[in-house]
Amino acid sequence: MSRLVAFAAIQGGYNIVSKVEGRYNRALQTYDADTKIGFPNTAYFLPVIYSLTGMKVETLEDAKKPLDFARGLLPPHVKGHNHLPYLGPLLDAGMAAIMAFEVDEALRYLEQPDFYLHSEEPDIEAGKIWLGAADDTVFRKRGVEFVDGSAPGFAAIVGSAPDPETAKEIVEEYQRRSLYIFCAANQNGTTVIEQLIEAGVQVGWNTRIVPFGPDISSAVFALGFANRAAMAFGGVEPGDYKRMLLYNKNRIFAFVNALGDVNAEWAAAAAGAINWGFPTLADTDIPEVLPTGVCTYEHVVANVPHDRMVEKSVEVRGLKTTVSTIDIPLSFGPAYEGERVRGADLFCQMGGGKSQATELVKMADLNKVEDGRVVIDGPALDTVKEGGVLPLGIYVEVAGRKFQTDFEPIIERQIHHLINYIQGVMHIGQRDIAWIRVSKAAIEKGFTLKDIGVVLHAKFHQDFGNILDKVQITLITDKKKADELTKRARGEYKTRDERVEKMTDEDVETYYSCTLCQSFAPTHVCTVSPERTGLCGAYNWMDCKASFEINPTGPNQPIEKGECIDAKLGQWKGVNDFIRQASRGAIDHYNFYSMVIDPMTTCGCCECIAAMLPACNGIMTVHRDYTGETPCGMKFTTLAGVMGGGQSSPGFVGHSKFNITQGKFIVGDGGLLRMVWMPKSLKEEIKERLERRGKELGVPNLVDMIADETVGLTEEEILPFLQEKGHPALTMDPLVG
Ligand code: SF4
Ligand code: ZN
Repeated sequence: MSRLVAFAAIQGGYNIVSKVEGRYNRALQTYDADTKIGFPNTAYFLPVIYSLTGMKVETLEDAKKPLDFARGLLPPHVKGHNHLPYLGPLLDAGMAAIMAFEVDEALRYLEQPDFYLHSEEPDIEAGKIWLGAADDTVFRKRGVEFVDGSAPGFAAIVGSAPDPETAKEIVEEYQRRSLYIFCAANQNGTTVIEQLIEAGVQVGWNTRIVPFGPDISSAVFALGFANRAAMAFGGVEPGDYKRMLLYNKNRIFAFVNALGDVNAEWAAAAAGAINWGFPTLADTDIPEVLPTGVCTYEHVVANVPHDRMVEKSVEVRGLKTTVSTIDIPLSFGPAYEGERVRGADLFCQMGGGKSQATELVKMADLNKVEDGRVVIDGPALDTVKEGGVLPLGIYVEVAGRKFQTDFEPIIERQIHHLINYIQGVMHIGQRDIAWIRVSKAAIEKGFTLKDIGVVLHAKFHQDFGNILDKVQITLITDKKKADELTKRARGEYKTRDERVEKMTDEDVETYYSCTLCQSFAPTHVCTVSPERTGLCGAYNWMDCKASFEINPTGPNQPIEKGECIDAKLGQWKGVNDFIRQASRGAIDHYNFYSMVIDPMTTCGCCECIAAMLPACNGIMTVHRDYTGETPCGMKFTTLAGVMGGGQSSPGFVGHSKFNITQGKFIVGDGGLLRMVWMPKSLKEEIKERLERRGKELGVPNLVDMIADETVGLTEEEILPFLQEKGHPALTMDPLVG
């Protein structure tokens, strides 16, 4: 390793720590020491400092300790003749810089509260392009993609490319590989983000291109994101810095691209990232740090040409990514899923109230369909003028020896994200309320309706090859025929829904496990039964059954219920045996129908978390999107932080939104009639089903009896409301006996 790079990084570490100390001391002259500081809406304090040292920085005063810690990490200066400042001192200087950066950013939030836009997308017209730290809502939503593998990792880009075109090429190549792109720092006043905006690229969390901030210090937000993933999904304890850094090295596939001249501060940041196992690749001639030691391969690689940056980066990080090759004229992949087609970009649309658009997947006879055939029944897109509308029926016939009608809805549900994966095409809704918006850019590149068929055919084979042999697609744009399909589809939806709704846990002998989240929450095992869908809301019993058929050695395994140990609480011997093994002994039993006594384990991707409210003799639940306080004294993020690492936490349980109105919801604790508080938006969202379930339980106006944030945020505040409404929970057996 070169003495030069160590010199630069160590010098950078000193500069940064001194600068932030200065800023901190000035802040102390302006603000009281107990002034609150921190990042918005998070339960992880300053996440890098918290995760590595366990220090909770909540006030200005609290920031002194980590700053002193950073100062203490700074190694002696490199002397002229000493040629041995190897990795250790370099790493420490880098770590000191990173911690100081985090305090620096917290001070920025204090002193310039409007500097960052608290949003998932920049407001370009208003000139607010920097988003700052991801709050816990964004973090959980996006972190899950790192859990389930739909995002293989992230590229942290600092600086700017020589021109907007080059920036666009590099970033789009990462998008094609489904990586997140975290952007920070400027090079002589120019940033990659501004270059991308100039080149017409949509930036924001939705397209996985995240504008953290214009200074190198904002690169710390990327590391904070990674460390929160380790705490939230990996169960790594705050303060366990060794496991924290190892977890990142082994599971978070990230690296840094330094575009432009690397000054001492950048060198320190790069040295800091090496602690995480994140290597840096630069486009300039900086001294390399080649020997391995912390990172999987090289640590710092210089002089990488722009057209090889992406390939070289994934190679050095030891990351396997694939570019999906589907024969359409547009890019395709999950990075385009959240992309919008806005009014000014819109060429034409189907559905969404402008016309009817309907989707239906049906099982067909093997001899009656021709694999790969795409039929356009009605006028093609080239008959449509700009701003025009077409009706659309997407009718997919699937045949296969192992195919079952039960799998139809599972295949059908994929249509939404698969069409969204096409760059420049947006899909909203499903079934008979689908809505497709096609952009001018897509049309210019040659998009036709047939491409929808090509995508569905290719992806269905790729993802479901085990259960299907043939896929034929008809795209109906003839109004009369589209209406006929809609009528038929509505009948099919009804039959399907009734079948699933009517299934009970007693009807089946086999439940399914889901261990998808174990890659991040090692002891977590979901068991999915007909009346207890997965707590993430993404998997019901039927999905797990299909997933097992598709991939017999995958994360969903059949579990024979076996002997019933407790019918009221929902405990079975077969399930206990399974979870003991699947959690490697960490959990040896749990109850399906109780949150009070040994509830099921919870991981970080649960949609809602229920908690007991003893003074009301009831329970509450809160969903991820509600960021306010709740009567149990904790916000969603705090609850998720406390119990989302795969433990069974009596008194709390993670569950899906749909589960609230399923027949067995906490029936061992008294069932849905225990529910005394829920955020208003959640009540609205599931209102219809709540009403129906209330009626079944003999309390038709249950919805109106459940308090929300407009009634109160403490048990004392909501109790009078419950009494006035005569809430059934008040007269039930004591919740804790
Ligand atoms: Fe994770 Fe459970 Fe959802 Fe499976 S069902 S993805 S384990 S939360
Ligand atoms: Zn999970």
